Amino acid sequence: MSSKAKPAYVGIGSNLREPVEQIAAAVRHLDAVEDVSVTACSSLYRSAPMGPVEQADFINAAVALRTSLSALELLRTMQAIEATMGRVRTGEHWGPRVIDLDLLVYADERIKDAELIVPHPGIALRNFVLLPLREIAPELLIPGLGRVTDIAVDEKEPRIVRVDLQGEFL
Ligand code: ATP
Ligand code: CA
Ligand code: CA
Repeated sequence: MSSKAKPAYVGIGSNLREPVEQIAAAVRHLDAVEDVSVTACSSLYRSAPMGPVEQADFINAAVALRTSLSALELLRTMQAIEATMGRVRTGEHWGPRVIDLDLLVYADERIKDAELIVPHPGIALRNFVLLPLREIAPELLIPGLGRVTDIAVDEKEPRIVRVDLQGEFL
């Protein structure tokens, strides 16, 4: 990859069809993209769903990567991986899903358009985004939000536990 590669962080979630396997597969798919190189992967975190419907617990993780793709190209690549992995868009926000890839941070960029908001607004609102990101990048300065370690964990949010199996994904 070119020396112009930029750092980015991606949040991964699943609550269908063996979520742990789905997350491992998503990391492999990401790393297999020619212009993407995964450099770190968090532990897995299990949490109760925040969606509107009765559904299984979620497993979440975050990865660090370097890429020569633009933020929008990376988003499209992530969406292609979601589609390859069989994600069906029901139109239901926060409904059950086999895989969800969210672009959390892309270098020092701040983007707000119809298709892409970066940094991802969930970082400061959701422990299952914040905790894995903090684990892999404790020094990270998030544009507009400050240090990742200074963002408060929401103590009121329902249970989240670190799953005790460090993924050997890479
Ligand atoms: P949330 O965005 O609250 O985590 P979600 O992951 O369930 O909800 P999706 O249905 O996966 O939402 O995505 C809805 C839209 O969000 C996508 O079509 C995409 O264009 C847009 N989007 C905006 N910013 C981002 C981002 N940083 N990462 C991923 N998708 C994004
Ligand atoms: Ca999401
Ligand atoms: Ca998403």
